[in-house]
Amino acid sequence: MQALVLEEKGVLALRDIDLPQTVGLDDVKIAIHTVGVCGSDVHYYTHGAIGPYVLRAPMVLGHEAAGTVVEVGKNVRSLAVGDRVCMEPGIPDLSSRASKLGLYNVDPAVRFWATPPVHGILAPYAVHPAAFTYRLPDSVSFAEGAMVEPFAIGMQAATRARIVPGDVAAVIGAGPIGIMVALAALAGGCSRVLISDFSAEKLAIAAAYPGIEAVNLKETTFAAAIDTATRGWGADVVFEASGSGKAFEGLFNLVRPGGAAVLVGLPVDPVRFDVAGAISREVRIETVFRYANVFDRALELIASGKVDLKPLITGTYAFKDSIAAFDRAVEARPTDVKLQILVAEEG
Ligand SMILES: [Zn+2]
Repeated sequence: MQALVLEEKGVLALRDIDLPQTVGLDDVKIAIHTVGVCGSDVHYYTHGAIGPYVLRAPMVLGHEAAGTVVEVGKNVRSLAVGDRVCMEPGIPDLSSRASKLGLYNVDPAVRFWATPPVHGILAPYAVHPAAFTYRLPDSVSFAEGAMVEPFAIGMQAATRARIVPGDVAAVIGAGPIGIMVALAALAGGCSRVLISDFSAEKLAIAAAYPGIEAVNLKETTFAAAIDTATRGWGADVVFEASGSGKAFEGLFNLVRPGGAAVLVGLPVDPVRFDVAGAISREVRIETVFRYANVFDRALELIASGKVDLKPLITGTYAFKDSIAAFDRAVEARPTDVKLQILVAEEG
């Protein structure tokens, strides 16, 4: 089966590779339709590793996918052949201690698509547990279905924040994840979301959504903007979605007394942390690792029209042009949010 294979750092190939196609009792087989290009896929391409996950053998990329069920295992009752679905890319051990606590995203045994040594799904077919496969409502397209995975991180961040209706949120970083976080925060009840970045283009994409206000860090500091917006009180919730170590300087001064700081971005190196700044305001600090139990909620929000992810899809490539899609993603154009690859032949 043809797949997009990362042979080694910097080398992609669209070539035949053997991928397991046995449909277990609780699995479904999916004809892949659309796959989003994720920052992590791009990072494996350019660096060959993310932290402890190092590419040591050729690996198929891709983990943000939607498609159609073409085969179901004998035990599967929740899905049928022909169902349009999206998939949650991490498969935990369901009998693990973490899974039993409902925290299957932090199960140490989780196997996650396109994280070495686990293959991703930039290929015509994938086999996946039905328990982590979600039917798309009729009004949700395949392209939107493939956006559920990155949006799920925003959903997890908003959930971890424990937003209260009317909260004012601040999001550091207007990259794809920062925008997803801002949209989930609004859907979760925030009255307004301030988002900061150095890129006017990225901010323009974010601020096109009602309720999101752009703060250009070339013109002002986020602290000054939040001060003005909240009359010196601070944001109820501050989401760190830039992954930049610099964002931690003065981070807790952005949070109102008793508010929350939610860490979403993953700095490459350890960062300095102002413990006194956090303690003096009794800031509640939350962390976000992927997501758990949010895919169905994300789909409900998209189907209801409360969250529109379509404007964030800024380019679509045919499967045969997958490598071009990745090379464009490496360019990191500020006007690009999400590039997608159409694996299914349109008919
Ligand atoms: Zn992703």
